Amino acid sequence: MTESENRNLDRLLSRRSFVTTSTAAAAIGLLSACNSKADETKPAEIPAAPQEPVIVALTKEARDQMTPDSIIAKLKDGNTRFREGRKIPRDFLAEQRATASGQYPAAVLLSCVDSRAPAEILFNLGMGDVFNARVAGNIENPDILGSMEFTTQLAGAKLVLVMGHSACGAVAGAIANAKLGNLTQLLAKIQPAIKATKFDGDRTANNPEFVDAVARTNIDLTIANIRKNSKVIADLEKAGTIKIAGAFYDLKTGAVEFSA
Ligand SMILES: [Zn+2]
Repeated sequence: MTESENRNLDRLLSRRSFVTTSTAAAAIGLLSACNSKADETKPAEIPAAPQEPVIVALTKEARDQMTPDSIIAKLKDGNTRFREGRKIPRDFLAEQRATASGQYPAAVLLSCVDSRAPAEILFNLGMGDVFNARVAGNIENPDILGSMEFTTQLAGAKLVLVMGHSACGAVAGAIANAKLGNLTQLLAKIQPAIKATKFDGDRTANNPEFVDAVARTNIDLTIANIRKNSKVIADLEKAGTIKIAGAFYDLKTGAVEFSA
């Protein structure tokens, strides 16, 4: 975030976008922790006492001042807070009230249904911060693309983030050629990623390294398919209005690795 973006956000925060639930101050969500770069050389600092949350709902003005890169930076900061155990406390009821009359999310995520990969928690986000489409194997289809077109072109989100994860059951199922009802056609969408993955060694679902390698390829192919199958999204990207990025969440470390 640039100096001027920081100043603008400070002005917005002090003027209009706080819903204060106590006298203590701890800005929450995408707007928070603008300068909270983790110091990798020091252990995480744990707050001395629980903070009373002060909720910041993302306003249109604040969201519109963000850039795709500054949004990615905030997601990285949120993931650092998550994995260092110093998440900002939240008041979900206050957030619900603050966002009831409108929403101005900064990003649209496409992530897996896996119960261990909830993006809002991994990025220490709150209500109104991001749209999140979830489908097994984070594949795209016409309904997902329609959702993305709504969230970007119409609702103003500036980042499309496709997030896969390690040990993905959908990817393993596709490798194992599993068949079940409607799941069969979903897993078929992951097959191209299996073929496209260069990997020497055991190319079966029993090999976690191969499953993860396919999951990474699947993120790249999903992004390519989004560009190919949605002119709306592709045009927004070409115009520089939005950015499309990939991310890979490691279940074991809690870390999200970005490809942009
Ligand atoms: Zn999964």
